[in-house]
Amino acid sequence: MLQSHLHSLIAKAHRYQEEPERFERISGGEEALRVRVHGANGDHEVDLVDGRLLCDCDGFAHRGEGICAHVLAVEYHFREEVPDGAVEWPFSAPAV
Ligand SMILES: [Zn+2]
Repeated sequence: MLQSHLHSLIAKAHRYQEEPERFERISGGEEALRVRVHGANGDHEVDLVDGRLLCDCDGFAHRGEGICAHVLAVEYHFREEVPDGAVEWPFSAPAV
């Protein structure tokens, strides 16, 4: 992934973090964390599954990038509940 793309994801996540009304928790209590994010280009669902945050947006799910502004924003906003390592940073992968 291009580093500039990653930077744009982080910038977008920071904007979301400043707007808590974007985060709508749709599960609670004993259930796994599930959050609807009202994103700039539509709503997306972020789920905590087996200690990892998953998103249904195009960048995450279909392009297989494994990271997006939504999971980054949810990781921060719900940091009390999200375990370490729930978002895998692409640049931590071994260089090819
Ligand atoms: Zn997403």
